[in-house]
Amino acid sequence: MKYSDIAPFNTSVELSDKVILITGAGAGIGEQLAIGAARAGATVLLLGRNEVALNGVYDQIIGEGLAEPVVIPMDLATLDEQQANQLSHMIGNAFGRLDGLVHNASLLGKLGPIATTNLSEWSQVMNVNALAPVAITKALLPLLNESQAASIIFTSSGVGRQARAFWGAYSASKFATEAIAGILAAELETDGIRVNCVNPGATNTKMRRAAFPGESPDSNASAESLVPAYLFLLSEYAKNIHGASIDLQK
Ligand code: NDP
Repeated sequence: MKYSDIAPFNTSVELSDKVILITGAGAGIGEQLAIGAARAGATVLLLGRNEVALNGVYDQIIGEGLAEPVVIPMDLATLDEQQANQLSHMIGNAFGRLDGLVHNASLLGKLGPIATTNLSEWSQVMNVNALAPVAITKALLPLLNESQAASIIFTSSGVGRQARAFWGAYSASKFATEAIAGILAAELETDGIRVNCVNPGATNTKMRRAAFPGESPDSNASAESLVPAYLFLLSEYAKNIHGASIDLQK
């Protein structure tokens, strides 16, 4: 389904008092979403592997006088169940609940044919893009259950719905993401935790520029322009949207 079909009006979303964890919050879509969610009133938990980049986002949010974010340096390529549980304890001790979880971080990996692929690179991409979101979701479900209206957003891609030559582990990980989101949505049908999966579409970030080096970056949407769609899905305006696979662009 398309975002333009489900967003009934162009509204400014209010996320005051919500606690929202965003993975890959130091760059690209995650960075803009973190700033946008903070501007909407949320306390944002900035998870990523690049602490310097996360601190930059922290400084911007503090500089605007918004709710103080939390920087969580974590490499999702090596995340294990123990670290995921530590993350849960940390958030539980500080906030007692979690209202939003955006699985945004991803690794593109090296594009190329399966015939010559490197299996350890496949494994790294699958860990970051597919396994880490499962580990984090599993550890944080008890805190999401403490929220009045929790929302989980997974991030897919066009190559998560249609296989394309040379997209290797990234494409496979995004097919897995669609499946994980669908499985979880079915399991949480009656729990009050909404689960959706979004395809941002071509967006001018470093990942897109790496995947399509010959493209004019300005021909694609800005990361900032996608923020209202994410905020809508995190908000109670989207209370009836659950188990959907949503294209954020036309
Ligand atoms: P970016 O590469 O700009 O941002 C990805 C973020 O994920 C970065 O902050 C990156 O950190 C982080 N990340 C990567 N690996 C790890 C790791 N091991 N541990 C923790 N964090 C990590 O990409 P986008 O903003 O474009 O992508 C956001 C999401 O949108 C992704 O899920 C992507 O697959 C999806 N998407 C993007 C499209 C596009 O056209 N841009 C199209 C379709 C889907 P670091 O800065 O250190 O690399």
